[in-house]
Amino acid sequence: MTQDPSALWLRNPLAVLGDAPGGIVVQGGRIVELVPAGGAPVRPAAAWDASRHVVLPGLVNTHHHFYQTLTRCLPAAMGRTLFGWLQALYPVWARLTPEALDAAVTVAMAELLLSGCTTTTDHHYVFPPGLEDAIAIEAAAASRLGLRAVLTRGSMDLSQRDGGLPPDSVVQDLDTILDSSARLIDSLHDPAPHAMLQIALAPCSPFSVTTRLMRDTAALAERRGVRLHTHLAETEDEAAFCQARFGCTPLDYLESCGWLRPGTWLAHGIHFTAPEIARLGRARVGVTHCPCSNQLIASGTCRVCELEAAGVPVGLGVDGSASNDASNLMQEVRAAFLLQRGANGVAAVSHLDALRWATAGSADCIGRPELGRIAVGAAADLALFTLDELRFSGAGDPLAAVVLCGAHRADRVMVAGRWAVEDGQIPGLDLAALMARHGLAARQLAAG
Ligand code: ZN
Repeated sequence: MTQDPSALWLRNPLAVLGDAPGGIVVQGGRIVELVPAGGAPVRPAAAWDASRHVVLPGLVNTHHHFYQTLTRCLPAAMGRTLFGWLQALYPVWARLTPEALDAAVTVAMAELLLSGCTTTTDHHYVFPPGLEDAIAIEAAAASRLGLRAVLTRGSMDLSQRDGGLPPDSVVQDLDTILDSSARLIDSLHDPAPHAMLQIALAPCSPFSVTTRLMRDTAALAERRGVRLHTHLAETEDEAAFCQARFGCTPLDYLESCGWLRPGTWLAHGIHFTAPEIARLGRARVGVTHCPCSNQLIASGTCRVCELEAAGVPVGLGVDGSASNDASNLMQEVRAAFLLQRGANGVAAVSHLDALRWATAGSADCIGRPELGRIAVGAAADLALFTLDELRFSGAGDPLAAVVLCGAHRADRVMVAGRWAVEDGQIPGLDLAALMARHGLAARQLAAG
């Protein structure tokens, strides 16, 4: 992406999550200067009035399944816990087409951008015949919308026939998965800091993946310097599955597969004992907290405060839109704040903690210290919210207001120094046409 060489000063923000009361100067896709109160930039910079805006580092989403925007609130899957929910949806997802996926991905990314998200991951693990290029479809959409992305090549190779949960129609064989993973790293992964697109590898879960695929994927990731991601310790059912099949806990199983190391981050991470939390911290394994999904399918409550105290990077994720059913990361910040304050007490969790999880915490989960921070040298990824809706009327602390009063739509979003959202809109994206295309694809998918 070519960068505008001129410097831009976001002048005198209403509030900022960072030490820049006089504003932020961005240039060449990076933050180059933080301006003190009442000050001015030391370099020539065009000024942009931010006095109506609360400025946050761009939010970072560390767990999602974009394709699931097509199966939100699907009656057949509602009111179930994880295993029953998955079993209802696998046959539907097996009918995904490239056209439907493109619509799903664009909807998910647009929702994320409009909620203040500047970097997203995705965990795509369904590759029915004809959908072999799913990750390339996602990469193209991210590039079109100007969203930074870490796309994980998901996988499933353990079907019902072999004692797993998914049907044969949605699994692939090990060689196909590893070949595809290696090719995606070759063709799409940019290892450099500030990369707009990275690839990570993501076998789906203990109950849908063979031990051999877990181990071979870890070895491939290590050889190629990419990160590892999977679902772990999400439900009691998963723990029972691991005990019955492997004779150990999910974390012991993960370690036996060579995954307990820096470079791994886990979705959910709910059902860990205190000694297991300490092991995760020593290994610097990250955990993505998905508060809406965990509450919707009653999986349990992630022990976020204990994980952070043990040294675990904790980020936030919206999770798939079938179990959320939204892709709004700012709403997830509020959900995390409420859930964790309820679990840990008023003194233990503030709105600033929840904002940290969605920014620096998420960035650390995916090994991207240049993201999620308002600091000189960090990426010029910013989310700007105004407080002119009814819900904010009379609010005191502006940073608290975006969390507690329920900000849900950013007014401006900057990714790598470029405006990806302006005045609450994504330039060049016809949302009405997109929703018509996406709604049709969802109806066709549900109809079978
Ligand atoms: Zn998930």
